[in-house]
Amino acid sequence: MPIHEKSLIREEDLETHENMVIDGVDVSGHWSTFIKTRVVSDYNETLEEEIATLPGGEYVHRCWQCGSCTNSCTVNEVNPDFNPRYWIYLIRMGMESELLRDKDIIWQCVSCNKCTYACPRDVFPEGVMKATAHWLERKGHTPKSPSTHFDEVFTEQVVKTGKIEESRTMRRFFARTKQKLLQDWMIEMVKRMISGLPVGMLTRMGLATLVAPRTSDWSKASAAMQEYIDEQHEKQEQALSLAELVETAKNDVAA
Ligand code: SF4
Ligand code: SF4
Repeated sequence: MPIHEKSLIREEDLETHENMVIDGVDVSGHWSTFIKTRVVSDYNETLEEEIATLPGGEYVHRCWQCGSCTNSCTVNEVNPDFNPRYWIYLIRMGMESELLRDKDIIWQCVSCNKCTYACPRDVFPEGVMKATAHWLERKGHTPKSPSTHFDEVFTEQVVKTGKIEESRTMRRFFARTKQKLLQDWMIEMVKRMISGLPVGMLTRMGLATLVAPRTSDWSKASAAMQEYIDEQHEKQEQALSLAELVETAKNDVAA
């Protein structure tokens, strides 16, 4: 049974009658406010499964709608429209079009994990928020976020070299997100970082930026990691195509 929070009632769904008398009682204006009835028919029957296939969404089915995640949420405190409990409800019900109405704020989760500690059912709502944000990107509902670009650049470097070389990661991240590398805050941060570092270490850091050293005998580990990534990606792609398959099957039956 869903929880009906006042913040979830949208202005456009309310109806007020200027002049209304019921059983001799004048309930005009504010006293005759009703929530309009509506019919939802565009369910995505595989939505829960699609989210559950993405990392973090695995336990979405456990939710019993207690609301502890939303109650404890850092972002909900400043923006009542940010409502993990409600989105998990929509996912479980397959109400995709309703979920898409909030597509531009779901990414705002700051990963503080307060919800994770508050959840009595080990749903890991923080993971569900991440999975939902990735789902929105993979389905083309939102553009790729800077954090997804960063994850990709980071992963590519680990798989290829077995090492993390920060300045290379940052340069690639800035290039992918079409940002200028020499931004004022960046220049200031680098200045503070390198001031006082021994010359030997600075030289090694500079060389590492140029030659991208690899961990020795890394090729087998790299191949195994890539194989696992490809396997997971294929599994996710199959799950994300489920909705289209179901829709096609429905149309075939109806024809
Ligand atoms: S991890 Fe995200 S959803 Fe959970 S409490 Fe923090 S901001 Fe809210
Ligand atoms: S705290 Fe857990 S069980 Fe309760 S609504 Fe949030 S995700 Fe569901």
